Amino acid sequence: MISLEASLSQIPQEDYPKHSRVHAIPFLSDEKRNFFIKREDELGFFTSGSKIRKWRTLIPALIQERVETAILIGSCQSNNVLGLTLLLKEKGIKPLPILLLPYDHPPQGNRLFIELSLGETKPIYLKRAEWSNVDVIAKSLQEKLADEGVKAAIIPEGSYMEDAFYGALTLALDILQNEKDHGIHFDHIFIDAGTGLQAAALILGLGFLNHKARVSVLLLHEDKERFKNELARWEAVLQKKAGIKKKLTLNFHTFFPKGQRGFKPLEGKRLKNIVHFASQTGVWTDPLYSGRLIQEAPLEAQEEGMQGNVLLVHTGGLSSLFGFQDALNS
Ligand SMILES: *Cc1c(COP(=O)(O)O)cnc(C)c1O
Repeated sequence: MISLEASLSQIPQEDYPKHSRVHAIPFLSDEKRNFFIKREDELGFFTSGSKIRKWRTLIPALIQERVETAILIGSCQSNNVLGLTLLLKEKGIKPLPILLLPYDHPPQGNRLFIELSLGETKPIYLKRAEWSNVDVIAKSLQEKLADEGVKAAIIPEGSYMEDAFYGALTLALDILQNEKDHGIHFDHIFIDAGTGLQAAALILGLGFLNHKARVSVLLLHEDKERFKNELARWEAVLQKKAGIKKKLTLNFHTFFPKGQRGFKPLEGKRLKNIVHFASQTGVWTDPLYSGRLIQEAPLEAQEEGMQGNVLLVHTGGLSSLFGFQDALNS
């Protein structure tokens, strides 16, 4: 069987950072469990977390396909749209976002920085009622550009695509590196899921590497059935790329938030917990992803009777905190 490194080395990659450290979180630990956190947030500022791993293979693919304009689909606070906008500018590819704008407030948070980074280009804003048509709108924009002789690619929400999946596989390899560096072994790994691409790549990467850790996936957007079906689809993609036939042994389970359900930023007491966690541990988390993981993972670990070393993957995205200054002030 060919190694994961060897499979990945066939794929063109940008040299974006891909090594993040882990450290202990005594604040969460007790006699049964030692908690650690993997600081993917330290991989960058506007370009951090699991996204920068995805982009390391997505950007070279766009360059190879000679894409001139990238149509970026996402919410107006999207980390994916903001980070990609910057990396595309660097490469001379024009970013053209189509954004969900549920409320007509003045721009703040990531939306402000998306608008400022675009310069002359204006994003296309869609209201909630129009959003179900976003794929059709993107497709017709792509066709219109093609008529004008411009090659355009459509990047779905969260870069949920094969060219980004390969970069996301680097997370599993980096966790092995962390284990080597610290001489420890993680029994459990927690990660949050928006589209679920990074979580799927983590589970499959660990399976490929015969790592025994059980991955617990906090589903924010997803339903369990869809996640399982998509995981099977990504497994087939990986097997084809790596030229293997054997089914991988995958060790994971999915769970929903026990506190606030759904894909909404944390509010009230739970937003306050983010501040408390930062003041106790020195680690800021965001109200959409990592801030939910640090609150939900200890509850799930207790419910599941987990023991040993538990790693929480901090998936980054801290620039979205700029959109919450008023709420944090009160
Ligand atoms: C996009 C994103 C996620 C979710 O990644 P998926 O691969 O879509 O599940 C998690 N955390 C942050 C900060 C993100 O920007």
